[in-house]
Amino acid sequence: STSLALLTQSWRRRRAIARIPPRPIELRSDEIVAGVIGLIGNTPLVRIGSLSDALGVEILGKAEFLNPGGSVKDRVALRIIEDAESQGLLHPHTGSVLFEGTVGSTGISLATVGRAKGYDTVIVMPDDVAIDKVQILEKLGAKVERVRPASIVDEKQNLARRRAEQFGQTTLVTPPQRGDDIVVTTQATTSEVSHTPLPLSSSSSSSPSSSSSSSRSLHILPDVLEKKPRGFFADQFENDSNWRAHYDGTGPEILRQTGGHVDAFVSGAGTGGTITGVGKYLKNHLNGVQIILADPQGSGLFNKVRYNVMYDHKESEGTKRRHQVDTIVEGIGINRITHNLQLGLKVIDDAYRISDLEALAMSRWLVKYDGMFLGSSSACNLVACVKVAKKLGRGKRVVTILCDSGSRHQNKFWSEEYLRENNLEVDISLIEKLIAS
Ligand code: PMP
Repeated sequence: STSLALLTQSWRRRRAIARIPPRPIELRSDEIVAGVIGLIGNTPLVRIGSLSDALGVEILGKAEFLNPGGSVKDRVALRIIEDAESQGLLHPHTGSVLFEGTVGSTGISLATVGRAKGYDTVIVMPDDVAIDKVQILEKLGAKVERVRPASIVDEKQNLARRRAEQFGQTTLVTPPQRGDDIVVTTQATTSEVSHTPLPLSSSSSSSPSSSSSSSRSLHILPDVLEKKPRGFFADQFENDSNWRAHYDGTGPEILRQTGGHVDAFVSGAGTGGTITGVGKYLKNHLNGVQIILADPQGSGLFNKVRYNVMYDHKESEGTKRRHQVDTIVEGIGINRITHNLQLGLKVIDDAYRISDLEALAMSRWLVKYDGMFLGSSSACNLVACVKVAKKLGRGKRVVTILCDSGSRHQNKFWSEEYLRENNLEVDISLIEKLIAS
C-alpha cells in the first residue's frame, strides 16, 4: 500500500543518514532548575516520524510525559496550588491537605508538587482505573480512596469536596456537582452512596459514620481539628487555574516551538483544561488554526460538538454502563460539560470519535515504528491527528498532546490479559488502513 511504500522509502533514507557520524545529544536546557517544580513544563515538541512520513503531514506531539510527575497534569497541579497560595487559601508547610477526585494523573501531579511544598494529598479515584496509578500515588505518600466509576453525577468529585470540607476547607470553589447542567433524555440512575470517614491520622477515637449530602453530618477527626489543618479541594473540573495553566504555558510554548506554523491542534478532553487553554491561546494568536477534539467511544462530547446534543438515548441502548464513558481510554471522555470545557466550546471547530480498537492499534504502531511507549489518551489523540491530516491534505502541520507514557497503563490498556478478558484484539493494520484510506 502507499503508506507502507512511503515508510519503506523513509527507512532507506534513514539508513543512508545512519552512515553519517552521530551528532552530540543536545541539552534540553542549560539551566539549573529549582527542585522538582523546576522540571515542570517546557517540554519538547516531537515529530512522529512514521505518521508524518506516511501521511505527508507533519504530526507533532508535545512530550508531556517528560514532566516529573509523568503527565500533562503537572502544569495544572502547580498552577492550582500556586493560585490558591496567592489567594491565601494554602500556606506551604503548615499541614494543609490537598483533596481531589481524579482518574490518577492529576492526583500524581498534586502529590508530587504537594510533597515539594509540604502538603499532604488525599485522592478519590474510581475503582476501575489502572492499578498502576494507585501504586504510584501510594509511593508518593498520598492517601487513596476508591469510589465507583464516574457517571453524570461525579462521585469522586463530590466525595473529594466533602473530605476537604471535613478538613476545614476555607473556601468552597464551586457548589457540588449535580449533573443537571447538561442535556439528557433520561434521568441519571445514580443514587447517593455512603462512605465511611477516611482514616487520615492515627486517631482511634473516630467512629465511622456514614455521610449524607450535607457536610455537617460528616465525622471530623478530633486530632485533625486540634492541629487546625486546612483542606483544599483542587477542583480541577471547575477551577479556572486549570485552563489558565495551558493558556499561559502549553499554548505559548507550542506557538514558540512551531514559529506559529500550526494548521490544527488536536486534544481530548477530560476536564477540558488542555483544549480550552491551548485552543483559546492559539485562536487568539494565529489565523485559521483549527481546534479539534479527539473523543473516545462512549463520551458525549463528540455529539455535543457535532450536533449540540450531549447524550444520545438510542446510542446508549445496550451499552453496559449508561451515562458512564464506556472506553478503556483513561483521562479523556466525559458526559457532562465542565466549567473548563464550557469556556472552550466556542473555540472547538470539530470532533472525531475514536474507538478503543483504533487507540489500541495506534499505541502498538507507535512502539513498532517510532519506539514510543505512550498512554491511551496520547494514542487516541494521534488517531484523531491521522483523521485530521487526511482531511487537511499534504504539507500541513498538526500538533497534539502526548499526555503520559504507557508505563502507568500496564495493568489495563497495555495488559494482554486485560484485553483478552475484555475480548479486545489489537489489530495494527487498522492504522495502515486509516493512513491509506
Ligand atoms: N490524558 C490523561 C492521561 C489525563 O489524565 C487527562 C486528564 N484527565 C487528560 C489526558 C485530559 O486533559 P484535560 O483534563 O486537560 O482535558
